[in-house]
Amino acid sequence: MAGRPLRVLFVASECAPWVKTGGLADVVAALPPSLAALGLDVRVCLPFYRSIRREVGEAPACATVLGALVREATLPSGIATYLIDAPWLFGRDGGPYQDSEGRDWPDNAQRFGLFARIAATLASDETPLLWRPDLFHGHDWQAGLGPLWLKNGLPGPAPSIMTIHNLAFQGLFAPETVEALRLPPGVYGVEGAEFYGRLSFLKAGLHYADALTTVSPTYAREIQDEAQGCGLHGLLARRRDHLVGIVNGIDDRVWDPATDPLIPARYDRDSLTGKRVNKEAVQRRFDLTIDPTRPLFGMVGRLTWQKGIDLVAEVGDRLAGMGAQLVVLGTGERPLEDALRALAGRHRGAIAVRVGFDEGLAHEIEAGADIFLMPSRFEPCGLNQMYSQRYGTPPLARATGGLADTIRGVDAGSCEGSGFLFAEATGAALWEALVRALASYRDRTCWTRIMRAGMERDFSWAASARRYGALYETLVAHPEISPRMRAHP
Ligand code: ADP
Repeated sequence: MAGRPLRVLFVASECAPWVKTGGLADVVAALPPSLAALGLDVRVCLPFYRSIRREVGEAPACATVLGALVREATLPSGIATYLIDAPWLFGRDGGPYQDSEGRDWPDNAQRFGLFARIAATLASDETPLLWRPDLFHGHDWQAGLGPLWLKNGLPGPAPSIMTIHNLAFQGLFAPETVEALRLPPGVYGVEGAEFYGRLSFLKAGLHYADALTTVSPTYAREIQDEAQGCGLHGLLARRRDHLVGIVNGIDDRVWDPATDPLIPARYDRDSLTGKRVNKEAVQRRFDLTIDPTRPLFGMVGRLTWQKGIDLVAEVGDRLAGMGAQLVVLGTGERPLEDALRALAGRHRGAIAVRVGFDEGLAHEIEAGADIFLMPSRFEPCGLNQMYSQRYGTPPLARATGGLADTIRGVDAGSCEGSGFLFAEATGAALWEALVRALASYRDRTCWTRIMRAGMERDFSWAASARRYGALYETLVAHPEISPRMRAHP
């Protein structure tokens, strides 16, 4: 490898700003430039969806693999991409996984089956490209068949890594799919790509990849247990020496209260007065009583069971009874939206809910709230808790996944830490933490210390990119050796 940078092929179904349905797109957009800053040569392989064609036009084709054209284009970040152009699979209106009515595309197995197989081919001796990667780095189930092909038939395969962004999405298909995709013999079994009688793209990736990562160390441990393992905990526990958790970073240029154009008043840790202006603006926007002394809780995200919205609904009346305020922005499950609306209806001036997706308002809430709520049942990494710490809005969160890894919990009676954590996913435990946070809030000196502790933290991608870089080097040098054992001799 001496003399040239390590080459890594990212294989993913989303990348911001071209195609995004969730946090995966942000990671695939942000991590490659951070790796490039360390001297690595990273390129991203994506399906050539119609939406990407609209962005980049007819990008030049450089090869044909398995009947699809491989086109080349450059992301706004300067990172090069290989776009798999199979118009019969990707040339259609609608989302990457679903049609505009929200129904899964019926040929998703064909779509991502071919995509992953072509990407694997690019990482083998069969590649027609001059740029040959040293590593295949797949993300989530859409890339899962890549490691399967690399380990079963492709000549000169590069070592492979799979990253789990959310174990709950697995890419499960009927057993006939094995035949339809012409998978190599022997791969469809419990020791392979079968998951209780169905073909699992994610399990294929987790079984055949040389190394596995997920987006926080705590989530890496949690998914080895039944409670959060989504049926794959046995496999993950067996492969624990090949599984590492590397926490996601945030885009700290977009999320910076000192420069954020989306908030009414800018501020930093040395001059916090702007935060008061932002609080008043949020109270006004949501028709709450304008009062700087009332503690204001904020929440932004999917309104789902995962996010513990039912727990918030459970404690909402008591929260308003204590004189606190709450604003919520999000969309999600209808019964949870309704529960929050009913709560807001009972406490006008104190609790308000906005159902919808609004980037600007999300920034305003991060900046204007006093405390940010994230009582998630599980959270692979989570981003809002990092944004809120940067914005001097200490998070109050359940100690799970990335929340446990990125928030330094303040103990009762202490002013050390950057947020508030609780253990049990119950209304009672959430309430106990709320009372604890409000006690700290009333002590202004203590509160300012907690705010500043969060604002001083570094959540940039640089540190995590270094960890990925170290993992890549280990794998390329010794693909057979457990990454964890080498990292912790
Ligand atoms: P997840 O990926 O599980 O939905 P994350 O916290 O990792 O949760 O990332 C969600 C991202 O989407 C955050 O940046 C969050 O602010 C943003 N977001 C979610 N819902 C909304 C909304 N209704 N309006 C604006 N931004 C939202």
